[in-house]
Amino acid sequence: MIPASKDDLRKIAAPAAATTAASTWARQMSRYSAFALLSNALTGNHHWPRAWRDAQPKAQYDVVIVGAGGHGLASAYYLTSEHGISNVAVLEKGWLGGGNTGRNTTIVRSNYMIEGNTAFYEFSLKLWQDLSRALNYNVMYSPRGQLNLVHSKAQWDAAARRGNIMRLNGIDAELLPLSEVQKKAPYLDYSQNMRFPIQGALWQGRAGTVRHDAVAWGYARAADSHGVDIIQQCEVTGFLRDNGRISGVETSKGPIKAGKVAICVAGNSSRLANMAGLRLPIESHVLQAFVSEPLKPVIDTVISFGAGHFYISQSDKGGLVMGGDLDGYNSYAQRGNLPIVEDVLTTAKALIPFTSRLRILRHWGGITDMTMDGSPIIARMPIDGLYLDGGWCYGGFKATPAAGWCLAWTIAKDEPHELNRKFTLERFADGTLIDEKGAGPIPAAH
Ligand SMILES: Cc1cc2nc3c(=O)[nH]c(=O)nc-3n(C[C@H](O)[C@H](O)[C@H](O)COP(=O)(O)OP(=O)(O)OC[C@H]3O[C@@H](n4cnc5c(N)ncnc54)[C@H](O)[C@@H]3O)c2cc1C
Repeated sequence: MIPASKDDLRKIAAPAAATTAASTWARQMSRYSAFALLSNALTGNHHWPRAWRDAQPKAQYDVVIVGAGGHGLASAYYLTSEHGISNVAVLEKGWLGGGNTGRNTTIVRSNYMIEGNTAFYEFSLKLWQDLSRALNYNVMYSPRGQLNLVHSKAQWDAAARRGNIMRLNGIDAELLPLSEVQKKAPYLDYSQNMRFPIQGALWQGRAGTVRHDAVAWGYARAADSHGVDIIQQCEVTGFLRDNGRISGVETSKGPIKAGKVAICVAGNSSRLANMAGLRLPIESHVLQAFVSEPLKPVIDTVISFGAGHFYISQSDKGGLVMGGDLDGYNSYAQRGNLPIVEDVLTTAKALIPFTSRLRILRHWGGITDMTMDGSPIIARMPIDGLYLDGGWCYGGFKATPAAGWCLAWTIAKDEPHELNRKFTLERFADGTLIDEKGAGPIPAAH
């Protein structure tokens, strides 16, 4: 079932969720309320409490989560708020939100069509819509809509098929003729002698952007308020075992015992799994992002080029945020190469001619964990006590709330929820792949 309303969301949550959510809400409101805003404004904003504690590790936890990105923090939050498991630590080798959560281009959408992905990403988009209220923290969800440009007759067919499948699943989708695209984005190059003339677009109106740092901070604050220990500068270097079962982790701050351990480390998934003796069907590649100097508001949607890999939106600070292909070779380095810079910026210029007059302010790289079918893994591992949330490729930011929600369910109940039942490790052995792009086992093509 794809949850269509807040009531549906509640139905698929654990029955205890309503009461815990109510008490969470009351607790959160007492911290960020109109009264707190007013009284702090009148007293020079010196009295805000820390958003989360600087916790030190205890000897033992029920659950240890490795990685304080959005996924690890969301999992910890839903473990406490949905399942009442609060003896939880999130261990982070650097600083909270410093991985891909703080490095992505902030796009959220649910325009998926393969069974397994469709319901999961729609669930995530529904959670985004309500997240600021649920966390009492403004994550700045901006449903500005996304244009997926269409450049050929074959792409019209593919867009129509995708849109129809989305609509049959209750997800908003609209095919826009060229005249409508021109109204929404008048600054694109519509000349018919360009290499890939624009013919129209597939539009999802509820797609948009979310402020990535705020997502990490909001989940961290909410998890901390439920008693979760978030421990930064604490690198996991190995696993403890007891009769073959994972019983904790070795860290740079000493051993920590745990009933269950979950790996949520994005580009480092294969490294961590390797420490536990597992070889994952994942390659790590760098993906870069680019921000221009700030402009007055000009691009008010998310735009994806259909004839190559390029996407663009405008941040609230005015910078044009752009991304493209990943670097072709495997790497764990969080910085990219110059050919991709050239590739992304020439595409920007071809599609939006005025960008030729802009300067790039910043660019950076993050390590993406590319699976062989482009879809994620949220599952128990073949070693007792070990769980994995990984293989998010280019697209795990939009999945953050649903991934955390499903991983928490899987850890708490030791079985997947309907929404993540297909995100197994075994599918790579038994052939039940979820190949959204139809690109086969070629990570660079996903
Ligand atoms: C440039 C770029 C653009 C992107 N754009 C989008 C987009 O527009 N939309 C979208 O949906 N997705 C996008 N993504 C993908 C998305 O950012 C990720 O899939 C998602 O943020 C992953 O979140 P996470 O919490 O799993 O990982 P992360 O945020 O990377 O968190 C993992 C954490 O684990 C920590 N860690 C690693 N090893 C250890 C260890 N041994 N011990 C302790 N801690 C450890 C890391 O320091 C890190 O903080 C993009 C990615 C990149 C790089």
